[in-house]
Amino acid sequence: MKNRLLRRGQTLGCAIVLALLSAHLGAEEPAPWVNDQLANLVSTYKSIHSHPELSHHEEHTSALLATELRKAGYTVTDHVGKYPDGSQAYGVVALLENGAGPRLLIRADMDALPVVEETGVPYASHVKSTNASGQEVGVMHACGHDIHVTTLIGTARALAASKSKWHGTLMLIGQPAEESIDGAKAMLADHLYERFGKPDLAIALHDTNTHAAGTVAIVSGPALASSTSVDVVLRGIGGHGAQPQVAKDPIVMAGEFIVQLQTIVSRQENPRDPAVVTIGDIHGGTRRNIIPNEVKLELTTRAFSERAREIIVDGIRRTAQGVALSAGVPDNLAPIVTILDAESAPLTYNEPKLAARVKSALVGALGSENVVDDDPAMVSEDFGYFGLGLHDIPTTMFWLGAMDPVKFARAQAEGKVLPGPHNSRFEPLPEPTLRTGVTAMTAVAIALLQTP
Ligand SMILES: [Zn+2]
Ligand SMILES: [Zn+2]
Repeated sequence: MKNRLLRRGQTLGCAIVLALLSAHLGAEEPAPWVNDQLANLVSTYKSIHSHPELSHHEEHTSALLATELRKAGYTVTDHVGKYPDGSQAYGVVALLENGAGPRLLIRADMDALPVVEETGVPYASHVKSTNASGQEVGVMHACGHDIHVTTLIGTARALAASKSKWHGTLMLIGQPAEESIDGAKAMLADHLYERFGKPDLAIALHDTNTHAAGTVAIVSGPALASSTSVDVVLRGIGGHGAQPQVAKDPIVMAGEFIVQLQTIVSRQENPRDPAVVTIGDIHGGTRRNIIPNEVKLELTTRAFSERAREIIVDGIRRTAQGVALSAGVPDNLAPIVTILDAESAPLTYNEPKLAARVKSALVGALGSENVVDDDPAMVSEDFGYFGLGLHDIPTTMFWLGAMDPVKFARAQAEGKVLPGPHNSRFEPLPEPTLRTGVTAMTAVAIALLQTP
């Protein structure tokens, strides 16, 4: 690559070859530095992995992150964030000012999941905790947010050590409670931008089982779906199972509702605008010969446009009302449909111009063979909240390949998929994943922190 640049430079003139070389070397420069730090970062990663904390409980992870960012020379504020019930969140904000230039937000989420780890790695989690319902649960970094936190620490150090390469202000965010979709909102509700400045751009990464370590992937435009959580209560009139004629059976209504709901996506929604409606939880009845008074259903829905989201929510309401109407349920027992804003997430939108700049920085740092154009995914994230809507602050999130390249190639050859996020066997390979994560995020930050 360097030889090719030199040959091309000789025909273009000395000034241009120097400019090309310095641009090229600038993008690659973090790599040797990352290699020196790698053993330390891997041990930090393993320590975070062995000590996962559930959403809303990221006390030690956030303290570790805050300490490391302070040591790297950042001005750090912790305990940033307020939940709607008034409780404090464990958000971390770290600022590093370096002259005039853009203000760049880089976000890493910190929380783990109620999953019993089954990877069998020596640094596996054996942590148990109590969930919000009081049940004892295993805790695992099954979404790889430990990779994100460690990558942020490595990136923070690399950028502090290369201040001559960039100009502007870094705003690093350790975000709590991504899995419960209320951490970003809690930080914004605690006046994040009023207290620490409003960023010009916001970026993040997420590890993935769909790419090998050493590679990254990026989508331009809508990248992750919005998610809207909906509760439905179908109310009937209970009675004896042997005398259905004097009851209004909500179990039968639920059966009709579930089948009818499938026509929202298949018949009412534009097939070119993907969407999902899933019922993940249904409860009704106590024993076989009693017709219950009600059936409760919990739904998750995904969409890439506000239009699709409206069609889905309207469709759920109409279907519930229609089923109750056809069963002869009186008006005062009409179905109750509740949209749960606290458990809903916005679209993750990779603003095309920013996504193109991020991609070109990734190609410069990793080589085009290691940067893949990816498809949008139906999973959701709360990172979009940092953008304050689709067109206020441009945002982009890219995927960080995390799988052992040998196992990944073997699985692909066999037509199999390695366990992914939220699976008890999701196993990022620490060293190459962290090396690529820090190299990639550092190169992206340097590319974005330039004065126009
Ligand atoms: Zn997750
Ligand atoms: Zn995640």
